[in-house]
Amino acid sequence: MRNTLPVMNLIVYAIPVFFLLIGIELLIARMRRLSYYRFNDAITNLSCGIGSQIAGVFLKTATFIGYKYLYEHSLFKIDGPTLASMAYHGNAATLHALEITFSISIGVLLFVGVDFFYYWFHRLAHEISFLWGSHVVHHQSEEYNLTVALRQAALQGAFSWVFYLPLAVLGFSPELFLTIASLQTLYQFWIHTKLIGKMHPAFEYVFNTPSHHRVHHGVNPKYIDRNHGGTLIIFDRMFGTFQVEEEEVVYGITKQAKSWNPMWVNFEYWIGLFRDVFRVQRLKSAVLMLVKMPGWKPAELGGVETPKAVTPQTFNKYNTEISEGLSYYVFFQFVVVLLGASAFLVMQGLKPFSEDLVFKIGISSLIVIAIINFGGIFEQRAWLPPAEILRIVATILLVIYLAKNSAVFFIVLSVAVAFGLVSILWFTKFIGQFNLKRQEDVQINAG
Ligand SMILES: [Zn+2]
Ligand SMILES: [Zn+2]
Repeated sequence: MRNTLPVMNLIVYAIPVFFLLIGIELLIARMRRLSYYRFNDAITNLSCGIGSQIAGVFLKTATFIGYKYLYEHSLFKIDGPTLASMAYHGNAATLHALEITFSISIGVLLFVGVDFFYYWFHRLAHEISFLWGSHVVHHQSEEYNLTVALRQAALQGAFSWVFYLPLAVLGFSPELFLTIASLQTLYQFWIHTKLIGKMHPAFEYVFNTPSHHRVHHGVNPKYIDRNHGGTLIIFDRMFGTFQVEEEEVVYGITKQAKSWNPMWVNFEYWIGLFRDVFRVQRLKSAVLMLVKMPGWKPAELGGVETPKAVTPQTFNKYNTEISEGLSYYVFFQFVVVLLGASAFLVMQGLKPFSEDLVFKIGISSLIVIAIINFGGIFEQRAWLPPAEILRIVATILLVIYLAKNSAVFFIVLSVAVAFGLVSILWFTKFIGQFNLKRQEDVQINAG
């Protein structure tokens, strides 16, 4: 690559801003006595976000090969400053002005291009059951707040990359594409809020807004599979998928995941789908189940499922209860995992291809086990106490292993052992709560 700067994952650098805005939204909601947040739901949303970023570390290299290959073999090469230099005819000031004008117009053009192909990936991810499995995670939360924006499916990137390949053929450089695609993703953060009502009509006409995107997350039959836009809403208006926000939105999916386990929620839809696919007699029915709308079933499996009418009063949200003390424990561990995962992701961005595999796989596995355990705590699973103690011991051992040649080894060792002892002693206070027979899932109204 000509560019000497590392290709930065802008999403990782935006993490502090995300949490600042989540804090502000939480505070405003509390002050207005609005129950927009539930602890178990918010932690699971954020855990899914961490999980998808970790999966991205392994996926990105693979999914990017196709884009790079097509770009290298493309007849065109569009990289802001390069073409601008070619257009140089006058003095330095003219060149500079040309460069800026050119870079901005190329940037805007590519942004619209990314948003267009995003619309089609996103729309088909809703309309084709097999692809729905790669996106469903984003829709499982039954709340609507800024943490939902970060709730992303781990394997979505393994499918969506194909849709952007035309941009490589048009000659948009991989660096330019990654930067603009990150900005397009970042835009979608702030629209996941109930605190902003409808905005200026001119803005609502062109751009995706909190109101439009609330509709997208609705299970009310008239809201299902509407408003697929990323930054712009004009493609929904053009291609007939636009729906204005009218009655109150009920959030979630028609087939509730009923789990706080970030691993399970990533695969439960596909597991159910393939279970059904292998139950049908005719090959044609099996194929149709994979490519038709989610919920499409042949007559032998009971026929097509149609979504039922819902209101906030009749829809039961999935919920479970844990003690307040255990919630504080989860919060503490979550903050540690978040800081560790953020540091790991920043390091991956700086030197993506050159690090130790033990480091990469070791840290990733520990992060994934941690977020699975948070789900196990919320669901009060019997397997959780030994799993949690093992996780803490494994964390200490890995930290010691990774720091073995470090100049500050003894400081790292002391911190790791102190963290481990505090965590284990604290956690053992709650072990009795896991011996109780697991409560039946508590359901609460959405209203
Ligand atoms: Zn969607
Ligand atoms: Zn969303």
